[in-house]
Amino acid sequence: MTATTPSENPLLDLSGLPRFDAIVPSDVQPAISQLLDDCRALIVRLTSPGAATTWNDFAAALTDGLEPLSRAWGIVGHLHAVNDVPEWREAYNRMLPEVSRFYAEFGQNLKLFAAYQAIAESAEYARLSPAQQRIIDNEIRDFRLAGAQLQDDQKPRFQAISEELSQLSAKFSENLLDATNAFSELVSDEAELGGLPEDTRQAAREAAEKDGQSGWKFTLHMPSYLPVMQYADSRRLRAQMYRAYATRASEFGPAELDNTPLIGHILRLRREEAQMLGYANFAEVSLVAKMAVSVPQVLDFLRDMAVKARPFAEQDIAELRAFARRELQLENMEAWDVGYVSEKLLQKRYAFSEQEVKQYFTEEKVLSGLFKVIETLFGVCLKPDSAPLWHQDVRFFRIETPAGELLGQFYLDLYARATKRGGAWMDEAITRRRRPPGSLASDAIQKPVAYLNCNFSRPIGSKSGQARPALFTHDEVITLFHETGHGLHHLLTRVDELAVAGIHGVEWDAVELPSQFMENYCWEWSVVQEMSSHVDTGQPLPRALFDKMLAARNFQSGMQTLRQIEFSLFDLLLHSDFDPAEERSVLDLLGEVRREVAVLVPPAWHRFPNSFAHIFAGGYGAGYYSYKWAEVLSADCYGAFEEAGDPFDQNTGQRFLNTILAVGGSRPAIENFRAFRGRDPQVDALLRHSGMVTV
Ligand code: ZN
Repeated sequence: MTATTPSENPLLDLSGLPRFDAIVPSDVQPAISQLLDDCRALIVRLTSPGAATTWNDFAAALTDGLEPLSRAWGIVGHLHAVNDVPEWREAYNRMLPEVSRFYAEFGQNLKLFAAYQAIAESAEYARLSPAQQRIIDNEIRDFRLAGAQLQDDQKPRFQAISEELSQLSAKFSENLLDATNAFSELVSDEAELGGLPEDTRQAAREAAEKDGQSGWKFTLHMPSYLPVMQYADSRRLRAQMYRAYATRASEFGPAELDNTPLIGHILRLRREEAQMLGYANFAEVSLVAKMAVSVPQVLDFLRDMAVKARPFAEQDIAELRAFARRELQLENMEAWDVGYVSEKLLQKRYAFSEQEVKQYFTEEKVLSGLFKVIETLFGVCLKPDSAPLWHQDVRFFRIETPAGELLGQFYLDLYARATKRGGAWMDEAITRRRRPPGSLASDAIQKPVAYLNCNFSRPIGSKSGQARPALFTHDEVITLFHETGHGLHHLLTRVDELAVAGIHGVEWDAVELPSQFMENYCWEWSVVQEMSSHVDTGQPLPRALFDKMLAARNFQSGMQTLRQIEFSLFDLLLHSDFDPAEERSVLDLLGEVRREVAVLVPPAWHRFPNSFAHIFAGGYGAGYYSYKWAEVLSADCYGAFEEAGDPFDQNTGQRFLNTILAVGGSRPAIENFRAFRGRDPQVDALLRHSGMVTV
């Protein structure tokens, strides 16, 4: 059988930008199958007896050989995400198991592990660049964490634990979903709907009708549950819903949906797995590939922040209680009143309409504001560019140096479509790297390309010809800046080694630094003035309105911070200082954590762990702290600009570019941070940005 050539199959044409004008779903199976075959053949060749284990002959050759598969499969995954029509879904799903199997086998291939180890132990290692050494170290680390170093007689048990853990995690979320679905509250008296927004009532009415019932049906799904907790005047309804929500998948419901035994089981297996790998507990394993170095370090970080946030949280809660008594005649504010009272207080104090704000953020104005921020900060130029596109909504841009040298390019797909995955995300199309010797391309460096995807509303009336520009909420503007931050991390890298260029190799708890950093500019008055223009009057956003937005931003930040710390601390202690075999229960531990940090303690029957899917069913086990950690890093970096007295300080911008964005994963995140800030991270900037400052 002769191989398909790029001229016959455009998915195999990786000489430049993806051929979105030519690629069709029927290209997927032949192209990906061929690339998988190529990769497998290469691995066999590189690991055959006598094959050289040097950087060039093994590590670099492997990277070169695997890149076409990841690029082509990346294109397929991207099209599946932004153009999820049946043909693309089918093409993607058909090859997904094969591709997953390839990568799973790769992670278990002991010959590859041995080759990386041979390089690490060779005299050549010392001569490799720091980025190359880091790639070797990362590979060995990942193989080790996958159990590659275990004795042969231990491997079956390790494998069995991994499989059982993934089944338990899947079961945990299934139970949670089933328990969420199992409850509903049918309200038959319209008087009990007081306070609820019209769209919530309408949805509840339709939900009841769908069941062939009259009245209003409320469920534990967010679009139904949240408005009830925020707006329903009926305390009975709130209490009822709150209790159902708080006891999901617990012993208070059907035994077959109770997550309690799964929690114990997951914790025991994680501990056993960690000990097989030579660690004391699962938290230590979780931190191996993260920026945080040790469990005590993270515990100190969380506790320090808790102490600093506490006075503000106490003030928040006192204010809330006083407001509940004075304005709402609620003598004892209960857990099911908190959301409701908070919403009333927020409205009373900082009422402004998202709809009003939205009139000021037109697409062109926001984009030019964003581009100007990037250009000023990092001394680059952004220009429209052209490329084959997957949809007419998509725009394409290039980033250049002032001298006109190309740095990278990106697609911008802003609007929601029925066939597009929800949310907003950045993805890589092409990663920067030095091209292999003998490459036919004229440029020795392959320039990075990114996809920036959002789900904002499109311009109204564009089809009828009377186009009104797309209008963004302030939250959407923040989202755009956030994703662009990820994009800049990928695009402004100067690393030549693919495996640590851009966001590759960046520690999990540090990867949100550039994205959250960019969000700060959405709260900078000079930037807001520059990037807002009322769709009808052309006026920038009024200062008074901006002040309300700022105040609302920090509403109850003390309480929110302590809540996040409570979850983080509980997660980390559960995976370190807790032995599932001991007398103390998971709930006892949670109680201890709450006594230490919480200002609001839920009722004794609350079963928070049973729905903590982040840590039991997601990838956040002993990693929930990452949210706060990354916020601290990004706020502290922004603090450097505040100290310089100018959010666009040239010198600081260049340093941020040189020490963080350009370096990416080629150096440990803590070293990048120290290089930029001249010290270790401190929580002060985040506290200040959240309004937690003692005056
Ligand atoms: Zn992000």
